Amino acid sequence: MIVGIDLGTTNSLIAYFTEDGPKIIPNRLGKHLTPSVVSVDEEGNVYVGETAKERMSLYPNSVAETFKRSMGTDREYILSGRHYKPEELSSFVLRALKEDAEHYLGEEVTEAVISVPAYFDDKRRKATKRAGELAGLKVERMISEPTAAAVAYGLYDKTRDTRFLVFDLGGGTFDVSVLELYHNILEVRAVAGDNYLGGEDFTEVMAKLFLQKAKLQLSALTEKEQVRLYRQAEKAKREISDNTEVTMSFLYREDTMEQTITYKEYEEACEELLMKIREPVKKSLADAGLKLTDIDEVLLIGGATRLSIVRDFLIRLFRKFPDTKLNPDETVALGAAIQAAMKERREEVKEVILTDVCSFTLGTEVVVEYEEGKYEDGRFCPIIERNTVIPASHTERLYTVRDNQSSVRVRVLQGESRFTRNNLYLGELEVEVPKGPKGSESVDVTYTYDINSLLEVEVTVVSTGLKRKMIIKGQDNQMSEEEIAKRMEELSYLKIQPRDQEENRLVLTRAERMYEETLGDRRKKLDHYITAFEAALKKGNHDEIREARESLNEVLEEEED
Ligand code: AMP
Repeated sequence: MIVGIDLGTTNSLIAYFTEDGPKIIPNRLGKHLTPSVVSVDEEGNVYVGETAKERMSLYPNSVAETFKRSMGTDREYILSGRHYKPEELSSFVLRALKEDAEHYLGEEVTEAVISVPAYFDDKRRKATKRAGELAGLKVERMISEPTAAAVAYGLYDKTRDTRFLVFDLGGGTFDVSVLELYHNILEVRAVAGDNYLGGEDFTEVMAKLFLQKAKLQLSALTEKEQVRLYRQAEKAKREISDNTEVTMSFLYREDTMEQTITYKEYEEACEELLMKIREPVKKSLADAGLKLTDIDEVLLIGGATRLSIVRDFLIRLFRKFPDTKLNPDETVALGAAIQAAMKERREEVKEVILTDVCSFTLGTEVVVEYEEGKYEDGRFCPIIERNTVIPASHTERLYTVRDNQSSVRVRVLQGESRFTRNNLYLGELEVEVPKGPKGSESVDVTYTYDINSLLEVEVTVVSTGLKRKMIIKGQDNQMSEEEIAKRMEELSYLKIQPRDQEENRLVLTRAERMYEETLGDRRKKLDHYITAFEAALKKGNHDEIREARESLNEVLEEEED
């Protein structure tokens, strides 16, 4: 089974293709969104998602989030004293998603199409691929997030050429992409964005408004209090879209503070953020050589596009209503699942030509005459360069280098070095050429590389028209099997917590957090329910555990409100 995965900065999702179209697979807690948060405790137990997030205020040094931002860099995260690279943390998220999908589908998930931001360069894409491999998933194809959104909206099915702008405001990142559907080819024309702008900034504005009204300084709050303040601000931010005002409360030292914030106040405070949003929109249009009015459709993705402040702003800007028929959190994962179905060549989906970029250079070996009569062989001649939009087809003409040369051998290589010995050998072809003085005969070497990593090499002798052809299935510079196996083993002492206990673990972690946040009678009441739940867990009776968990959950919900 091939699945589609949206490995997001704040949340990740996994989807598959059914007879009724693409569908999100619920995680172990029955939820569609799995927070891209990882926690590792002192014993090396790994927590992923909601539970890891809950551990944030309890054990801040054991938790990592927004690591997608550092994907492909050497940054290391230290969790409970252990070091991890961004792709390793991502592999934990992918492992949890894979396990949940396997449980849900009742079959093994071996392969995934993973979405990546359109601006992700080669290094970041490779790191993403490695994350998949470390999670035991084959990742042959990636899809850019805006392309996935367009695919999910079925836009590739349009009969006339269309231009769309995909507006993606996530938790911590903002991406704008201009796409064009032209003769059945869907191409990303321009991308722009801000890696440090997202829904969290809107939360921060809310938190600051609260502090300002309550006459408090952020620096006066402890780390845990700050986490709590942001949690309350996040809630208020979500509520304000449907209300003219919200009342936000916050436990400071011994007091519960309350402040009312109006929609208008909040909108004014967000003005600067809206200005920041305008810039990448303008830039992407300018790069694509288009005006605002040239855009036929605006698609919204990313959770923060639910903010009515953002929607109102876009309606004013484009003078049209954006397309929002799909859930903005789920669009990319659904698109990735459709792409997975295309890869499986499912009949239900029409194969469209999606473009991508080639993440490495493909070329051949040539002999270079560096001085009259002096030759250096083993030099690399690029034919399809890294970051070329694919599918792509390029031709290079090569000449004979010796008198009476009777054949030309075309070696096919992949890599970035000037010297073929440093690049990866993929195969070779040989064609016969009529004998003659050097340089009198030539061959056209055509490389055609497609989105399925298939490289077609065609060599044509210019004078005789003789053709030879071969097809090479791409290697894509993956980590070697041994390297992956070695790192997987190194990471395998870390056990992702078994999924069947997840609900209990989450409730307990949340209860522990809430216990720290409350005082007096409320704390006593909580303690009572926690103790009862722990007792039920010790006894191990299923029904009792469920009952005690539900009671504790009710108390937690009450408290959270
Ligand atoms: P994503 O990275 O796409 O999952 O987006 C997460 C961001 O969306 C977070 O900043 C959330 O606060 C924000 N978000 C999710 N739901 C809502 C909502 N109903 N109203 C406002 N913001 C939301």
